[in-house]
Amino acid sequence: MSTRTRDPRGTRRHREVRAALLARLRPGDQCAHCLKPLGSDPKQLDADHSVPLAIDPDSVADRLLHSRCNRAVGQALAGALRTVDLIYPDPEQAHAAKVTIVEQITAEVQHKLRTGQRSTRLEPKREIHTRTSRDW
Ligand SMILES: [Zn+2]
Repeated sequence: MSTRTRDPRGTRRHREVRAALLARLRPGDQCAHCLKPLGSDPKQLDADHSVPLAIDPDSVADRLLHSRCNRAVGQALAGALRTVDLIYPDPEQAHAAKVTIVEQITAEVQHKLRTGQRSTRLEPKREIHTRTSRDW
């Protein structure tokens, strides 16, 4: 079984879903990660898959998040998930491990975003994200 995830961002379907989510955006709607208001600038918002594509490749974007918050979680997950397929050659075990990792790391990054333990501004340079969650 391939564990590659199709990345639907940039597809017409994803743009339509994002447009629909933006059309439903209401003042005061919160970002699920930092719990702060999403605001009204579409450029600052990402359409996010609450069930990550790493868990379900058929997942459809179903909520809006701050782009910076989405990226913070995404980057933390990418590094951790990359090693899972190496550790667990069995697809079922790998999937179970990914579910656990997604839950733990999402909760950890959300806590940091909500408590301000780490700056959420975008880093000027892209790094290779091989750090573990402990390095946050
Ligand atoms: Zn946020």
